Amino acid sequence: MSNPITQDLLNLSHELGREDRGLAMLGEGNTSTRLTDDTFLVKASGTCLGTLKEEDVVECRLSALLPMLEKENLTDQQVDDALLAARVDPKAKKPSVEAVFHAWLLSLPGIKFVGHTHATTVNQILCSPRARELAARRMFPDEIVCCGVASVFIPLTDPGLKLAQVIRRETEAFIKKHQCQPRVILMQNHGIITLGGTWQSVLAAMLMAEKAAKVFVGAAQLGGPVFFSEENIARIAGRPDEAYRQRALKM
Ligand SMILES: [Zn+2]
Repeated sequence: MSNPITQDLLNLSHELGREDRGLAMLGEGNTSTRLTDDTFLVKASGTCLGTLKEEDVVECRLSALLPMLEKENLTDQQVDDALLAARVDPKAKKPSVEAVFHAWLLSLPGIKFVGHTHATTVNQILCSPRARELAARRMFPDEIVCCGVASVFIPLTDPGLKLAQVIRRETEAFIKKHQCQPRVILMQNHGIITLGGTWQSVLAAMLMAEKAAKVFVGAAQLGGPVFFSEENIARIAGRPDEAYRQRALKM
């Protein structure tokens, strides 16, 4: 029997990979969890979230991947070599190219799990001229409870190391502006990342973000959405009953 953290990661992966949810198909998306001070588990390249098995996750060293964020102009080959060299077990599968942003997000205080998908409705908006509004605005209370007061927005960026660097820059700017960590990161023409202290909170943020995207698309057909004002958001985010719901949801 695998250790409980690996099992949590597989549970999260299977929930995110469920075909009926339209979040990820085939090799799309990836997941990760912090294991020790210096290591984390991440989905291997080319494996499928919905059927992920223990041998499809790779233990990697943070100390081997985080220094890459300081480097400019690494070739694809150098990035590939570094990904392979970061594995604790050299016989393990190759980690996803997105392992670098997982490593950085898992190094934030309190973040234990990260999920990434190409959720269909979220991507409908992220591939539209209104992409930024989905990140900046909020429409209903549970969206704030599960997805936070706003999401980080990542303008169109090449996947791989460059994307990890832009995610770090934009997430640091978000934390400075909002004085809290984000729960959701939206990447233009690409997909969504959710992060949290439990696998349940990562799943809840993902499902609620996809629901919010459905509400957005539907409301847009009726001339909307009508968004919350900044005061609406601040009031909901500060309510004690909402804090209670967040704890009950393991947020
Ligand atoms: Zn992706």
